Amino acid sequence: MTLTRLDKPVQFLKGVGPRRAESLQRMGILTARDLLYHVPRRYDDASTITPIALAQVGMDVTVVGEVRSKGILPTRRGLRIFQAVIQDDSGIVTCSWPGQPWVERSVRPGDRILVTGPVRFFHGRQIQPREYTLLSRADAPATAGKPGESGSTDTPDAPGAPGDPPGTIFVTYPASDDVPQWIFRRLFDLNLDWLLAQIRAEEHLSAQDRGALGLIELSAALRDIHRPRTLAHKDTARRRLAFDELFLLQLLYARVRHDATRERPGIVHTRTNRLIRALHDSLPFRLTGAQARVLREIYADMTSARRMNRMLQGDVGAGKTLVALFAMLLAVEGGRQAALMAPTEILAEQHAQRIRDFLGDLPCTVEILVGSATGRRREEARSRVASGEANLVVGTHALIQEGVEFRALGLVVVDEQHRFGVRQRMALSERESRPDTLLMSATPIPRSLAMTLHGELDMSVIDELPPGRQPVTTRIAASDDRAAVFREVNRHLEAGRQAYLVYPAIEESEKTELLAAEAEFERLGAEDFAGRSLALMHGRLPAEEKDRIMRAFQQGDIDVLVATTVIEVGIDVPNATTMVIENAERFGLSQLHQLRGRIGRGDEGGLCVAIPGGSEEGARLAAFARTNDGFEIAAEDLRIRGQGDFFGAEQHGRGTELKFADIIEHEDLIGPARDRARGMIDADPQLADALHQVVRTHLDRRYGDRAKLFGVG
Ligand code: ADP
Ligand code: MG
Repeated sequence: MTLTRLDKPVQFLKGVGPRRAESLQRMGILTARDLLYHVPRRYDDASTITPIALAQVGMDVTVVGEVRSKGILPTRRGLRIFQAVIQDDSGIVTCSWPGQPWVERSVRPGDRILVTGPVRFFHGRQIQPREYTLLSRADAPATAGKPGESGSTDTPDAPGAPGDPPGTIFVTYPASDDVPQWIFRRLFDLNLDWLLAQIRAEEHLSAQDRGALGLIELSAALRDIHRPRTLAHKDTARRRLAFDELFLLQLLYARVRHDATRERPGIVHTRTNRLIRALHDSLPFRLTGAQARVLREIYADMTSARRMNRMLQGDVGAGKTLVALFAMLLAVEGGRQAALMAPTEILAEQHAQRIRDFLGDLPCTVEILVGSATGRRREEARSRVASGEANLVVGTHALIQEGVEFRALGLVVVDEQHRFGVRQRMALSERESRPDTLLMSATPIPRSLAMTLHGELDMSVIDELPPGRQPVTTRIAASDDRAAVFREVNRHLEAGRQAYLVYPAIEESEKTELLAAEAEFERLGAEDFAGRSLALMHGRLPAEEKDRIMRAFQQGDIDVLVATTVIEVGIDVPNATTMVIENAERFGLSQLHQLRGRIGRGDEGGLCVAIPGGSEEGARLAAFARTNDGFEIAAEDLRIRGQGDFFGAEQHGRGTELKFADIIEHEDLIGPARDRARGMIDADPQLADALHQVVRTHLDRRYGDRAKLFGVG
């Protein structure tokens, strides 16, 4: 690994002695580069800063001023309040920190501080800071700021208050007790120019590439992220850093993908059309345009030497199972076997049944492998799989148990892929025969998010429902109208239909006012649904009990299923046409949509009523009622929840959480970042080329151990 001067320990920088270096290290800042990439978490400019004289009671303000005096005020109730009087050119105001006497230690007269918080009336006007930033220290040695050009704020004429030069931005760094705000500002005053000069050698985008992507130079971006002249400069800077971040992440994905699909060739399936044609001809309907398109993508992968590693996304009912069946038939035509793995026995059985129905008397044998089959039956099933007598094997986790051998496994399909751990879902794909892999998901996520979370996979999307589906009607009802809603449900039951009632909690609890499935189950059976057959279903029931209830519901022996969210995704009870979701505000948008996907599976459409606990129903429920389109729901969900929610523990553990990139704001950069990364890796998998040296450096510094894939580090 070639070290650059940016890789030197921070202690080598101006203003950093051994003790400060230690404090910085505790914040994860070990090298000069780490400091350069320690970027502000917040920006304020004149548009967000209020002159002190104009800060009025009731407002929430950010002000900048110099500390005139300070003190601790004891109160009768023993609470200690730290107070500081601050002044700008327009006036003077008291800032109060009730119960935080320790703030006293970090603020001195003569300091310039920025405070944000509400203005209250309490013995006069005062600000109660939620947040404060020490902009400069009264007795710190003067540093060489560059007023005007750089927006340095440590100079005596530091702006932001009336009379300051317009357009200066205050930056706030992530700081610690040991390394407060003002130290960071000082460290950058002393070192930023030098740091920027070093990073110039690590530019990895040509002027032409930057032009095409609308990006500025890396060194300019780092300058503007620390010293933006305007807030817009900060955004442009972030855009460049976001691209680099996305590109490096995509390089990791591209490399994983290369190893999985290219390094050793996969199976080249032979398409004879023998079975595919026969299935086509026997279908009572035509494939939708989207089904035909994704099948072309899948066939192309399967008949090429590149191994398939593909995710198939589509809303519930979009027809993924049929697409999977065609893919499996392609494997069988060429003389191989295909396996379909589902998360539960009921789903596996449902798949096997539907596949048998579709196949009719086509020469193709379906075997089912589930955990409940034991002894002789299990051994016989396993031996049919091992001999190749079984062409299509449908099952649960039982498929990946020891002792299950395939004669020639050519394709693995995983249904509801997110229900399996990474290990489990890849277990079959890692077989010696190097089968192709198709992961299916009925929880659509936006394309940009899919590329960022699963960049090593190729994506196929079914974004069209088969024609003639009757949509589910969704309504939002007030809790006052509950009785009327239940009467309406009863009318559906009268007509021979079944219903789901969904609750967010199993038991009542003192802490929350949530309606709980258990208590409601008793009440409903005695009151609103007296005389009907009800069952209670929740996550604490043993698996066999859940299966038993689901089967009884499927057979129509149960009219009303009172349940928490455990009702299976993908479970098919076409006769269940009504759903009531209680405390609907408790569910995420995608989750609500998943729940709704369980009704409207027959020809009649369905009715979904969401009853929020409080009176306000919020944007989420409005969006839920507005559209039935899973992709629209997913985009809205991302917008409301923000990307952080989607980067779960798994991403965090992989160190791939995003610091600069925002999936919505920088959406247009994701595709180009991926294409560039894939192109680079396909041409030069080790990034060994001298041209790629700089890229390797970035990758190694950002991902350390993970970058060892590339033989760097
Ligand atoms: P998914 O697995 O995506 O939830 P399914 O494969 O279960 O969807 O399909 C739902 C229903 O739609 C099934 O009954 C299936 O037979 C039917 N179906 C699939 N494709 C079509 C089509 N192109 N036209 C009409 N019905 C279809
Ligand atoms: Mg399905």
